[in-house]
Amino acid sequence: LLEVASLAKAFGGNRVLQDVNFSIGAGEIVGLLGPNGSGKSTLLNTITGFEAIDNGAVRYRGQEIGRLGAHRIVERGIARTFQLPSMPSMMSVMEVAMAAATTRHGLWETLCNGAGVRGAEAAARDKATRLLHELLLTHVRDLPASALSGGQKKLLGIVCALMGDPQMVMLDEPTAGVHPNLRNDIVQALKRLNRQGMTLVIVEHDMHFIREVCTRCIVLDRGHIVASCHPDELSSNERVLQAYLGGG
Ligand code: ATP
Ligand code: MG
Repeated sequence: LLEVASLAKAFGGNRVLQDVNFSIGAGEIVGLLGPNGSGKSTLLNTITGFEAIDNGAVRYRGQEIGRLGAHRIVERGIARTFQLPSMPSMMSVMEVAMAAATTRHGLWETLCNGAGVRGAEAAARDKATRLLHELLLTHVRDLPASALSGGQKKLLGIVCALMGDPQMVMLDEPTAGVHPNLRNDIVQALKRLNRQGMTLVIVEHDMHFIREVCTRCIVLDRGHIVASCHPDELSSNERVLQAYLGGG
């Protein structure tokens, strides 16, 4: 489904990603892990078009998307969440969720198709209502989105990512800072989405989460991939241990 080849990204002299190669098949749940600063968020940012890539290629369904830019990549069906989401103060939680529907399915087409506007709006409202309920945000739906707590903003980020019915979602630490009770709800929601056919890439530090959710993990260390293996093989993988213990 997704193929990353020889990807490189530097910020000034800081070579954050170097010769990154991997592919992800349809239906996988891949955990992306590695020490702080190893390049995980940057990898998500480059694949989803929020940062320009310096070198290499990103192919999605066989087509090069490496230089398309964020808006067109989301249109292709790859959605994402952010590690530290910021939310607008001028829109309510409900409005932010509904607006997210238009980024995938084309606000412009919806507006041009006069008769379709009301139907599209009603459909977006129904979907937002359902997703806000699933991620336990119904009671705050009328608050300004910026007034949510950090954990609630993460949940709203997940709602937004799902509004456009993406085939692939990349989540940057979806459960960091989220209450344990809710973490289990997120785990169940992600598994359910995967059973329905969604491919997931999840940046995560929590090994318990990774073992419970992921079918495979990719380990980054200082901008290099040092392992791609089943979660059960992590603890016996020398290079993973070196990455985490700083022995490499
Ligand atoms: P964490 O687990 O702490 O979230 P990470 O693996 O997601 O870490 P990144 O956020 O990808 O790490 O950062 C990797 C490196 O890239 C860091 O050295 C960081 O300072 C640098 N970096 C990331 N984004 C930028 C940017 N926009 N400008 C300059 N440097 C950046
Ligand atoms: Mg990060």
